[in-house]
Amino acid sequence: MKGILIALALALGLTEAQAQAQPNLIPAPAGYSVRPGSISRDKLFGQAEKVSISPKTLIRHLEGRNLADWQLKSAYLLELSKKGAKIVAAHEEGVFNARQTLRMMALVDSSLTCCTILDWPRFRYRGVMLDESRHFQGKAFVMKQLEMMALLKMNRFHFHLVDNPGWRVQIDAYPRLTNLTAWRPQAFFWDWEKNEIGGPFVEEGTPEAYGGYYTKQDIAEILSFADERHIEVIPEIEMPGHNYETRYAFPELACSLPGGGKDPWELCLGKESTFELLEKVLLEVFEMFPSKYIHIGGDEARKNNWRLCPDCQARMKAEGLKSAEELQSYMIRRMERFAHEHGKRIIGWDEILQGGLAPDATVMSWHGIDAGLQAVKQGHDVIFTPTHYFYLDYHQDPAQFRPVGRLVSLEKVYSFEPITEKVSEADAHHVLGVQGNLWTEHIQDAWHAEIMLYPRVFAIAETGWSQAERKDWPDFERRASSLSETAREWGYWVYPMMP
Ligand SMILES: [Zn+2]
Repeated sequence: MKGILIALALALGLTEAQAQAQPNLIPAPAGYSVRPGSISRDKLFGQAEKVSISPKTLIRHLEGRNLADWQLKSAYLLELSKKGAKIVAAHEEGVFNARQTLRMMALVDSSLTCCTILDWPRFRYRGVMLDESRHFQGKAFVMKQLEMMALLKMNRFHFHLVDNPGWRVQIDAYPRLTNLTAWRPQAFFWDWEKNEIGGPFVEEGTPEAYGGYYTKQDIAEILSFADERHIEVIPEIEMPGHNYETRYAFPELACSLPGGGKDPWELCLGKESTFELLEKVLLEVFEMFPSKYIHIGGDEARKNNWRLCPDCQARMKAEGLKSAEELQSYMIRRMERFAHEHGKRIIGWDEILQGGLAPDATVMSWHGIDAGLQAVKQGHDVIFTPTHYFYLDYHQDPAQFRPVGRLVSLEKVYSFEPITEKVSEADAHHVLGVQGNLWTEHIQDAWHAEIMLYPRVFAIAETGWSQAERKDWPDFERRASSLSETAREWGYWVYPMMP
């Protein structure tokens, strides 16, 4: 079929390169057909495109395809002729997506093949997570990645703002969180954390201290930048594990055991003061971030302290909780109720399934995909971020700088399919989408963070946006190589693709 299309296109007077079945675009669009002729980049951007926002017209062009409302909102028709570009969309977001398509075509090639593109997303959630706690990159870095996400039609930025090695967002009710735990003497995370025990923090203003945090003004600027690019920013406030820094600032929130208990990470769930702090923090976070989602972490709590602590035991007795897992579930449900009271919904890592899932929680499935499948069966929304495909801290080449984890090559990332035979057709709408996670234990520098992101984020973008039948590894490889070149010229660090 591809050969026939190319022969036909050649007969129309197109060159072979122009006649290729896929344009030089990531993510691959749902529908693409070549028209005769080409237009130069300069001519295209010398004039304004013709834009029409008309759901009726767009639906007519969709010829009976039944798109969900959220798909229609993002969909667009782009007609590129020798005269210029025409865009039809149902919503501003569709116009924005069409412009990103034009922009990418013009960035990659100086002469654009005339064409018609009819395009819409496969999944509604197409995300990237950045861990700003272990190493801190700051506002300019975040905005630079949002810019690339927009070009790739990715629409969710998961902001991992707090964790054991540093609290990175201003909270007015508890200035101590940032004044004290956003700074540490050692810059490199592994020099600071020894044998899974965090080192000391130092006060803000200490000479040569490493760290930083986002002020409310910084967050407002990032949100406005993201909003202009139709990207939703979802903040994560980790609880009840990964809270070494919270306990460092407020030791009274540890369990009532010698030294706060053997595990230095967990908050005491017996003490009411723990909930008071978390709720006050969340109130300020709700005020800062308009997203309807709040990510509350919920991962890797060891629960040993809770099994021994008299306060935790008293809570379990009073609430009729039979295990430490149920104590965690009690906490997650309580935070979910609090979020609901403020018009928000919670997302948590897949450990929130333990001890019973909160009624309306969305699960981020990171231990492989089984936890996600289980949550889907229970009628919950799921975002797939499986370690062996989408953990971007894992190396893409054994020879690369500071390799950790397993080999997660570009091809491996690209091979992930969220909807397998294990997801019934009736449940498929619970699969919201996919996300790449950049944990930064061993990633201190901006250039290092970017080579871990790119080109692998290109593959996640295509899995999230492109229709399954449009995915094609050899062709993606060609397009990814071309976009890598362009991204480098644009000032991004992109890891070389394997021959
Ligand atoms: Zn306790």
